[in-house]
Amino acid sequence: MAKDYSKYFIKPSIKDARKRKSQETPVIDFNKHINIKGFGKGRTYKINTYGCQANEADTERIKGILELLNFTESDTLEDADIILLNTCAVRENAENRVFGELGRLKQFKKNNPDLILGVCGCMTQEEKVVERILKSFQYVDLVFGTHNIYKLPEYLETVVLSKEKVIEVFSEEGSIVENIPRVRANTRKAWVNIMYGCDEFCTYCIVPYTRGKERSRNKDDIINEIKELIKEGYKEVTLLGQNVNSYGRDFLDVDYKFAELLKDLNKLPISRIRFTTSHPKDFDLETVKILSQGGNLMPYIHLPVQSGSNEVLKRMNRKYTKESYKEVIDNIYKYIPNVSLTTDIIVGFPGETKEQFEETIDLVKYCGFEGAYTFVYSKRAGTPAEHYPDNTPFEEKKQRLYQLNDIVNEGYLRGNKRFEGKIVKVLVDGTSKHNDEILAGYTENNKLVNFKGNKSLIGEIVEVKVTEAKTWFLKGEQIENSWHSYQRNIKWRCC
Ligand code: SAM
Ligand code: SF4
Repeated sequence: MAKDYSKYFIKPSIKDARKRKSQETPVIDFNKHINIKGFGKGRTYKINTYGCQANEADTERIKGILELLNFTESDTLEDADIILLNTCAVRENAENRVFGELGRLKQFKKNNPDLILGVCGCMTQEEKVVERILKSFQYVDLVFGTHNIYKLPEYLETVVLSKEKVIEVFSEEGSIVENIPRVRANTRKAWVNIMYGCDEFCTYCIVPYTRGKERSRNKDDIINEIKELIKEGYKEVTLLGQNVNSYGRDFLDVDYKFAELLKDLNKLPISRIRFTTSHPKDFDLETVKILSQGGNLMPYIHLPVQSGSNEVLKRMNRKYTKESYKEVIDNIYKYIPNVSLTTDIIVGFPGETKEQFEETIDLVKYCGFEGAYTFVYSKRAGTPAEHYPDNTPFEEKKQRLYQLNDIVNEGYLRGNKRFEGKIVKVLVDGTSKHNDEILAGYTENNKLVNFKGNKSLIGEIVEVKVTEAKTWFLKGEQIENSWHSYQRNIKWRCC
């Protein structure tokens, strides 16, 4: 007999998710939702994360909640008592990977009927996805969305202890939940959300429907989170938002914008502040001028352009032209001459002509990007572009992507070449994926550097002389009189 899970049965609705009301965003304190610690003792979990930094940040929160309940992370999926897939809905192939994985996990459920299998993240905010899970993947025990991660303790209590299925996805505008504990992926670099959701409604994009309305965190909560990170030894923070340049636009009682936040963060004793993602229409001159002051504000900006054709930009609802985009870029180069710029581009948007694509190529050449994420347009159910006529064959779109990537790759190499012979500061992440003897880390301009060095440097910022620029990374040699070596020498002399 089918289990009764009506208590929690709330399916998403893209139609409801589209609605926006001008009302204050509720702020929820997670501490008021946690009254059932301990029942994870002796149980393990594993999370597979798909998609962008927003999802990675959510996974850190989910891990934080699970560990607060005394679950521990297992090394493999096979050993886990709970498996969660934290999903991405931005493109169809990301969704297909999740359905493929769910199919594979059926065998895991057969081998271990006590295994709890859950799906969360952006995909579960789509009603078609939840319907498909209910129909074709009935062995899934838990489905929740992006708005109700804070209710996970309650859901798990029901699923683990009462053995009931839970499907609860809110199609609301969203709240801000403070004080969710986090297990951060890195001990030196941290994501810090400054806002959630998106109000831009680019016609190709599912994010405004899956993540709710744009809502900015209180500046004191952001600054206090970063101060805590500094105390814990963090050296780099990346501010997260779908359009960080519109930070504060939703505040009803205070006038405090992104530029002011950067100005305040510039005073904090942390080595590196980064942010993503910027929107060209809101990237104001004030922000450019503050970034030009440098200090802990890194000379790296990711500024998605999406297309170089005004006609296409209009149909994408991007609300800027290629001329105004160039103006922003010109100002950035004028005030921050050593900056590295990267972008996102979609090729084959419905109706994009060969000539319009050529305009994108021209714009890419003009902007001097040192990298780009490039995508073939992927139709998303519920978005306006779903219904736009699209007569370009997929093969042609792929050819456009290859042509674009050749130019983008020239930009990667050009951007790396300019550092040959220079001394750069590298925050060492760990060892190279390909060679355990080689250290790998990122420069202030966000360039990957490989160099020989002692593993004790992991987590430190060291000076490296760039000896050779490749397309995807720089090779370098550690400068022996760098700060870390200096510290080591002092210790040696003292002993
Ligand atoms: N908020 C950011 C912005 O405005 O660029 C990034 C959000 S989105 C998750 C990341 C990138 O995915 C976008 O910049 C866009 O290039 C790409 N993207 C979004 N929807 C897409 C779609 N339907 N097909 C192909 N690429 C898409
Ligand atoms: Fe999607 Fe546009 Fe919002 Fe970025 S700004 S998340 S591309 S709707």
